[in-house]
Amino acid sequence: MGVWQSQLREMGRWAIDTVLPPTDDTALFAELTFLDDPCCASCGYPFDHQIMGISAFDLACAACLARRPAYATARSALQYDVASRSMVLAFKHGGHTDRLQAFAAQMHRAGRVALSHADVIVPVPLHRFRLMQRRFNQSALLARALSQRCEVPMEAHILLRARRTPSQGGLSAAGRRRNVQGAFTVADPQKIKGRRLVLVDDVMTTGATLESCARTLKRAGAARVDAVCLARVVKPLPAP
Ligand SMILES: [Zn+2]
Repeated sequence: MGVWQSQLREMGRWAIDTVLPPTDDTALFAELTFLDDPCCASCGYPFDHQIMGISAFDLACAACLARRPAYATARSALQYDVASRSMVLAFKHGGHTDRLQAFAAQMHRAGRVALSHADVIVPVPLHRFRLMQRRFNQSALLARALSQRCEVPMEAHILLRARRTPSQGGLSAAGRRRNVQGAFTVADPQKIKGRRLVLVDDVMTTGATLESCARTLKRAGAARVDAVCLARVVKPLPAP
């Protein structure tokens, strides 16, 4: 096990000790992969180790070098994998909010740099039809818990869905980008002009939704947009 991995494991343990009561979740959390440095400076894609002695802190992954994201940085607390999937889905679709504080603690850890200089936290919005079906916006719940924890105010009604988008499931990266293009709008640009924003979402898959949100917010005058997610998909890199 590498130094970084053991440090991450330590951090995971710290989170369990300080945030969660001693319940069955301890075993569940021990199976999770917590994400942190070293990672892609832009999207947070985890790097295994420091490359050839060069600090990996300023390096971007191939995808971000090829296409610079509109957000400055995106960080995610957990890897979205077999271990975290049921937990994330139980929260997202089942309304299980008992782990909300533990999730917020991990998101605070992962997004600590962006959150330390943020003015406003903005959740990725759900379209009102989907909100009616689901009865709550899981990203807004995460954003509120994170806002209370790191004492950065949240604005839940600044970024809105301009139109209803079909589910992103099953779409390619390019398909996802097209699907969410122009999907968002800013209700009151004065409230974000010159401000440093942190977008909050539950799962980052290709980053297309964050990209579209960040682009919309920056066009409306935001000085900087970062993103913090609960979990992200980590696709293996193509073989060299
Ligand atoms: Zn990247």
